[in-house]
Formats: sequence, structure tokens, C-alpha cells
Amino acid sequence: MISTQEKDTVTFVKELNTLFTQASRIAISGHIRPDGDCVGSCMGLYHYINNNYNLDNNKQIDVYLEEVPETFLYLLDSDKIQTEAKETSYDLFVSLDCGSIDRLGPFDATFQQAKTTVNIDHHISNTLFARYNHVEADASSTCEVLSAMFEESQIDLASATALYTGIIHDTGVFKHANTKRRTMELAGMLLSKGVDNTKIILESFFEKTYVQNQILGRCLLESMLVLQEKVIISTVNRKQMEFYSATNSDLDGIIDKLRETKGVEVAVLIHETDLGEYKVSMRSNGDVDVSKIATYFGGGGHIRAAGCSMKGSIYDVINNLNLHIENQMKSLGLLK
Ligand code: 5GP
Ligand code: MN
Repeated sequence: MISTQEKDTVTFVKELNTLFTQASRIAISGHIRPDGDCVGSCMGLYHYINNNYNLDNNKQIDVYLEEVPETFLYLLDSDKIQTEAKETSYDLFVSLDCGSIDRLGPFDATFQQAKTTVNIDHHISNTLFARYNHVEADASSTCEVLSAMFEESQIDLASATALYTGIIHDTGVFKHANTKRRTMELAGMLLSKGVDNTKIILESFFEKTYVQNQILGRCLLESMLVLQEKVIISTVNRKQMEFYSATNSDLDGIIDKLRETKGVEVAVLIHETDLGEYKVSMRSNGDVDVSKIATYFGGGGHIRAAGCSMKGSIYDVINNLNLHIENQMKSLGLLK
């Protein structure tokens, strides 16, 4: 296993160049329940390889992801994304924005069968599961990592639009603490390619369907404040999801509204995915490291945005999470 943490990015980019040139069959994939950075990085890389390494059209380049939320279908060729793996053995499998091999979901086996594997990511919890690993934990997004590695003159509008989308989503439109000078500079570079900034931000980030707004309203209305009103928790059960005919991606963005509550250190959204099974999303507004808590429960993520899956009764899930949040808050002196 080779990790770029011990080598420099320039060497990694050279290696990638060789891998992209030599491979005839390339698979690109990202994490389950794909978000903007995941879809953006996959499509950004797809166009970059297709435009620069596939001039004679001899390469097979397949993008695999679980169902992509409708809001990202404006990305060129997103209709070519496949949800089921083909019986193909790939020369190269590139995993993007994915912290561990199990998070590739249905494409895990295809990854294992590939001759060479690459893992490009920005999750601090990344398990360096590929032959070539490049993880920049201080980057806002995988799209930022790719934008910095790609040759600027070789990035076309389709690739730039996809990469810009990922940066927008993982930074919450440049408002999260992961937004650095480099993030802005690279976003500026992508804008100069003709990216439609307003359309991407409004339509893929802010615009919500009526149903999405209704669930958001319900989550806010039924949320509770605990731990000296510094932690906000909201839950969505299957009955409510059925009532609204909502899908998982209809909940995107709700956690960010919860965290905007004044005085809140940590926001938690617990969504029942199956009987007694929950997807937990956590956000921190300060020093609480939610990736530590998520990792403890078998998940992962970043210091201020992390998630995990948990089982049991909703009360057990809330109590277990609370205990870990409380312990960290106490040790940070955040509770009186
Ligand atoms: P979200 O709450 O938006 O689903 O996820 C926040 C961050 O945590 C994302 O970077 C996501 O990749 C990561 N994350 C969420 N759920 C899990 C999980 O179950 N396992 C791991 N390893 N990471 C997760
Ligand atoms: Mn990401």
C-alpha cells in the first residue's frame, strides 16, 4: 500500500497520469448515499479522464453510484451513472470521497477485483484501503483535492461544473470551517471556466421541494434541546417518511438547519432507516469532535460533520450518543 501522506502530491499526480494513460477499463465510484461532493468528484474525474486520456475513444470508463439525488442530474452525463456493477474486471478502480471500503456499498466487490486501486479522499477517518491512497484531511472536499491535482488548462466546463458543485456542497456554500484560501482560489479557477454559480447554488443547494420543506418543518418543530441547551436532537421515523412519501435524500440539509440554532454546539439528526435501525448525522459548531463519536459507533467523517448507523430503540440510540457528546463537552469545559 502506498500513501501520499509520506510522499508529495506531485509524485502522486505523476502516478495518476501513468495509471490513467495505461488503463483501458476504468471504474469510478464513491460512497453510499452519494452527496454533492461524491457525485461531483466522480463526474469531475469522469470528464477529466474522458477529455484528456481517451482521445481515441478506446477506453471504457464507468461511473458507479447508488441512486443519485435528482438535484444533481444537471451534471453532464450524470444519466450514464450506473447503479449496478457490470461483470467486468477493471484495470483501475478509483474510489472518491469514500472513507472505507464498506462505504463503497454494492461496488466493494468490483473494487476488490480491480487490478489497481486508487483512493482519493478528505475524510480524516479514511482507512487507506487502496493500493494508492491520497487523503487530504484539511481539504474542504474531494472536489477541492481533485481541482488542485488536475492540470488547470485541461479542465473543461463539464468537469468544472461537477467539481464546483462538490465544493459548494461540502463547504455549505463556503460557510463551514473547512473553507480555506485554497478552497476559494480553486473555486475561482473553476468559475473562470464558465460555471453557472447562481444556478448551482440555488438549484442544487438551496431549492427544496414542498415535501422536503414539510419534513424540515416537522424536524425543527419536534426537535429537543438537551445538555444545557447546547445539543439539539431531532428524529424522523419510518411512519413519518411514509406519510410524506419521502426518500432518504429528502432529508439532506435538515441537519444544517438544526445546527443554525443559536447557542448550539452539536446537532444530531436520527433517521430510522429500518425497524430499529438508524442513520445518525452529527454536526459540530465548535470544538466537539463528532467524527470521534461516529467512529466509536462504527461510522466516521470529519471533526465537524460525521455520521454512523446504529441499532436498538430510539431511546438507547439517543442516550448512547448523548453520553459521548456529554463526555467530550465536559472535558472541553463546555458544560457548567
Ligand atoms: P452526513 O451526516 O451528511 O451523512 O455525513 C457527514 C459526513 O460523515 C460525510 O463526510 C460522510 O461521508 C460521513 N459519514 C456519514 N455516515 C457515515 C458512516 O456511516 N460511516 C462513515 N465512515 N462515514 C460516514
Ligand atoms: Mn466529501
